[in-house]
Amino acid sequence: MQKTPILMKFGGTSVENAKAILNLISIVKSKIEQGFSPILVASAMGKITDRLLFCANLAKENQLEKAKEIVRDEIRILHFNTVGVLLKGAGNEEEIRRKLDLLLEELKDLLTGVSLYGELTPRFLDTFLSYGERLSTLIISEALNFHKVKANLCDSRKVLVTDSHFAKAVPDFPKTKIKLEEIVKPIYEADSVPVLQGFVGSDENGITTTLGRGGSDFSAAIFGSLLSVAQIEIWTDVSGVLTTDPRICSEAKTVESLSFNEASELAYFGAKVLHPSTIRPAIERKIPVYILNSKKPQAEGTKITKNVSKDSQEPKAIAFKEGLVNLQVVPFEMIQHAEFLALVTGVFAKNKVNVDAVTISESGVGIVFEKTSEYDRVKQELKLLGEIKVSENVGLVGIVGKNFWLKKDSLELILHNLMNFKIHVFSQGTLGIVLSFVVESKDVQEVVRNLHKLLFEKNEFVR
Ligand code: ADP
Ligand code: ASP
Ligand code: MG
Repeated sequence: MQKTPILMKFGGTSVENAKAILNLISIVKSKIEQGFSPILVASAMGKITDRLLFCANLAKENQLEKAKEIVRDEIRILHFNTVGVLLKGAGNEEEIRRKLDLLLEELKDLLTGVSLYGELTPRFLDTFLSYGERLSTLIISEALNFHKVKANLCDSRKVLVTDSHFAKAVPDFPKTKIKLEEIVKPIYEADSVPVLQGFVGSDENGITTTLGRGGSDFSAAIFGSLLSVAQIEIWTDVSGVLTTDPRICSEAKTVESLSFNEASELAYFGAKVLHPSTIRPAIERKIPVYILNSKKPQAEGTKITKNVSKDSQEPKAIAFKEGLVNLQVVPFEMIQHAEFLALVTGVFAKNKVNVDAVTISESGVGIVFEKTSEYDRVKQELKLLGEIKVSENVGLVGIVGKNFWLKKDSLELILHNLMNFKIHVFSQGTLGIVLSFVVESKDVQEVVRNLHKLLFEKNEFVR
């Protein structure tokens, strides 16, 4: 009988070393025993993507030897040691090391190229960063096979078709579906586990692209939804979506269930646990997404479904972003509001810069956004439309939960709690799902801890 396909994505910390990969293997084994047919998507090991980025920048700044040293002494050693533990006694240890070395040699050649040209283009970086996932998945698929789980390594560049917007490529769903059915489906239909690289794809010309940092979650959602799997599991290093980022608030606890809209808002407002685009393809196919802890596979985690059973009017979680810009544009001459708003937002759309918050008043338009490499260009173009005023160090705090602030006294309590902070913008999201504040960047963490205490640690908040 055909087993039920599920998509399992393992993030960087869930494949960071041999021990993590052994956990992954036992999780996958238990899914197979439960009658599922897993399709695997994996990230680069640990912080390898960050290290690759660091090497590329070193090479650009004429420190080629230092960059090569990191590849040789850090990246190579990590992967080789992992092979040493996972494939001990497998007989193909040396063959896998040779394959890894071929990839590592290519990496070093690419670094030489960067140092010669002194330039790092998004197109180059996509190719360069893809090696992280290519190295990790080679080891994972071999380790699965050695530990008696039949697996086949797939090349995501041959599966995920995207446009050529390097560093933030947009998937072509119909073309990717055809590839998945051609390449991936026959593997799991033959009871083997396809192992794919997250984050990585290629454009129509076969040039490697990536979906942007943290993009493996998105790969999982794209593959899972196009293959109509029964569920998508995002395995990470925390037990689900927590009430806020545990790194800044040790009291954060697991949120049992979230609606798709709540989860997308949380991701959009900065919760790193999910890539912002992840949820959309899954919503469309009504596929539930689970966020689970690979270090504690028995823990419940968070279930994300199209709708949660009741409209609880409860706050669910707090997300935040730091280091944003609040830019106001005042038109040089009288112009209709709607027309001016369209001109201003048009500059952001054209430069593919995400907007985090917008305010409009009689005097002009204010936009809050992230300072990316397009920042100077955006500023120059806006200067042609009006006089601009910039506050460079603001941050965004979003409390997610359907209409929780409509309950008696809730809003008053929240605002009272924030009395000592400078609030630049305060708004209620369109679907009644987020209450957000633009505050000084330096205050963000304190605001979050403060709100967390009020909403999730004390009984004072009306529930
Ligand atoms: P992975 O490598 O598995 O993709 P990430 O580092 O991208 O993992 O995301 C998991 C991390 O997200 C957690 O370790 C945690 O620090 C951070 N995080 C931020 N906000 C939240 C939140 N609300 N709930 C859970 N984790 C969060
Ligand atoms: N390895 C990539 C990154 O670190 C993609 C991912 O892990 O989601 O951004
Ligand atoms: Mg991630």
